[in-house]
Amino acid sequence: MAAKKTIKKEVAFFGFGIHSGKPVDLRLIPSDSGEIVFRRSDLKNLEFRLSPENIKTKNCTTLVTDKGKIQTLEHLLAVFWVNGIDSLTIELNQEEIPSMDGSALHFARAVQRVGLRELPGKKSPQKITQSLFIQEEDASISVVPDNELRITYQIEYEHPSIKKQDLSIVVNPENFEMEIAPARTFGFLEEVPALQKQGLALGGSYNNTVVLDETNVINGPLRYPDEFVRHKILDFIGDLSLIGEPMIGHFNVKKGGHALHLRVVRFLLENPEYLSPDR
Ligand SMILES: [Zn+2]
Repeated sequence: MAAKKTIKKEVAFFGFGIHSGKPVDLRLIPSDSGEIVFRRSDLKNLEFRLSPENIKTKNCTTLVTDKGKIQTLEHLLAVFWVNGIDSLTIELNQEEIPSMDGSALHFARAVQRVGLRELPGKKSPQKITQSLFIQEEDASISVVPDNELRITYQIEYEHPSIKKQDLSIVVNPENFEMEIAPARTFGFLEEVPALQKQGLALGGSYNNTVVLDETNVINGPLRYPDEFVRHKILDFIGDLSLIGEPMIGHFNVKKGGHALHLRVVRFLLENPEYLSPDR
């Protein structure tokens, strides 16, 4: 069993939504509620609760209800989940979490800086008890029992600056902040016009995206030679956090994306016999 946690002090950020391009103020407010609640101050403080049924994935992970949405949750949620923060109010005055530098580093450092406070409530990590395999064309996720949370991720692009990248990491707050949180979003220059036509990537820039032309990274240097696969792990952690509880098991993802990530979350929530509480 582990204690539920919140942050010790309020933290504020200002930035731009990577898709909307709009400026946004974000505040993380300590709470004893035992859950993560989003509040849109621009919609009369309308509150949103995280629930996998209300998640849509299209180039990012978005919470959608009939009253409004909160877009691009994944990097922020990854920070909370890895640090065991499950009680918090997240206030914003726009529809999208600010992209900051395209990574989770600002959020991770801020949480470390203010520190965490334990709450009376308890939670049980969920342990994977049997293997499962989800496949979608040449992409797949396999999950097997393990004694810790391990993520292995493999990507393969024809692009000469990416090619094949493969990384396996045990997820804990220290590894996350050193190895995963600083890895930035990446995008291909040639795809920008099509994305922008769909209202996506309107806030994308050299300051929040590793941009690739046909052969090179335009705005290097990279933070790691394999920054791309590290960012995919960041996105996966953010998506997996929608399970709501800490997890123990080995997740092995090949060529994943948000939609496939969400399939494993939904599978585990619909098939609880694959999980058992680790007490
Ligand atoms: Zn991302």
